[in-house]
Amino acid sequence: MTMADKRDYYEVLGVSKNASEDDLKKAYRKEAKKYHPDLHPNDKEAEAKFKEINEAYAVLSDADKRAKYDQFGHAGVDPNFGAGGDGGFGGFDFGDIFGDLFGGGFGGFGGRRNGPVRGNDIRQVIDITFEEAAFGTKKKLSVTKMESCSSCHGSGAKPGTSPITCSHCNGTGQVKTQVRTPLGYMTNIGTCPHCRGNGKIIKEPCRDCRGTGKVRKNSVIEIDIPAGIDHGQTIQISGKGEPGDKGGPNGDLLVTIRISKHPLFTRDGYNVYISMPITFVQAALGATVKVPTIDGAVEYTIPEGTQSETTFRLRGKGIPFIRNKGRGDQFVKVTVEVPRNLTQNQKELLKEFEEDKNYKQKKTFMDKAKDFFK
Ligand SMILES: [Zn+2]
Ligand SMILES: [Zn+2]
Repeated sequence: MTMADKRDYYEVLGVSKNASEDDLKKAYRKEAKKYHPDLHPNDKEAEAKFKEINEAYAVLSDADKRAKYDQFGHAGVDPNFGAGGDGGFGGFDFGDIFGDLFGGGFGGFGGRRNGPVRGNDIRQVIDITFEEAAFGTKKKLSVTKMESCSSCHGSGAKPGTSPITCSHCNGTGQVKTQVRTPLGYMTNIGTCPHCRGNGKIIKEPCRDCRGTGKVRKNSVIEIDIPAGIDHGQTIQISGKGEPGDKGGPNGDLLVTIRISKHPLFTRDGYNVYISMPITFVQAALGATVKVPTIDGAVEYTIPEGTQSETTFRLRGKGIPFIRNKGRGDQFVKVTVEVPRNLTQNQKELLKEFEEDKNYKQKKTFMDKAKDFFK
């Protein structure tokens, strides 16, 4: 699907642009129930609709993504445009939504909980310097997450023993109960209470993981931070989150970038800003000055008669674009410093200068002021 064909997310959910979080959730529940694949097996159209609804909700339910979408449309949230995007919507826990949607009260989906469950995403923040953000870097990140227990190989049973099949549900993890309703008998499928849906019972739990089959482990993950990344952007590393359950996929590792303040430079998008003092003599006579840039000092010639607060642009001296070739610009704002502690001789020279007939600028102003005070 190209971006132009994409339907507006608000339209997909049937809500207005200023819908509240609550409105969105309600609309999403309504639409998702309508097109849920369990209700439309082998229906490609329903499946596509369901995907569309999920995508719309994933974006609009995330305040950050919603703001970007409102501003830039699909391009603002398309994962192919973001840093490290490789498709999919990181940070959106479908498991949560389904648990919420179908957990209890919605008959027929009881068995769903026994199916594969995607692992949770892990969110971390990483601090990098201004230059690292500009030129890219590699960082090692210490991540603590659940991993398969090596003592029992994830079975949860004490080494040397194995879990036994639950006799209550014959290993299916589900139990059917007949419920009498005004419309007749209905079969309700629920989670087996004996094995809690696992289908297996552990008689002697593994000591290292207390029967869960998982232990918390620390690992070091190296992350490639691309040149041009900006403060607050998130890198999505697929599959490096918490492990999935019952064959479900791993969650993602989501690393949000925090750029530390630079003593000289500030940044807005791909442009770099610097404020630089020059002497009043340099301003008046013009001068070649050394300007710090992220590539090192460059020479710049300030023209004669430069006023304080004038901004010069150094093209291509800004931050490299994250996805394309090219760079932003650097803007240099000069502030003219008025000298202090002049010597007697300097004072004389300045007075002489001020009384010169050719020094018109101030006189013009004084003429205007005279009119004003009349
Ligand atoms: Zn274990
Ligand atoms: Zn059971």
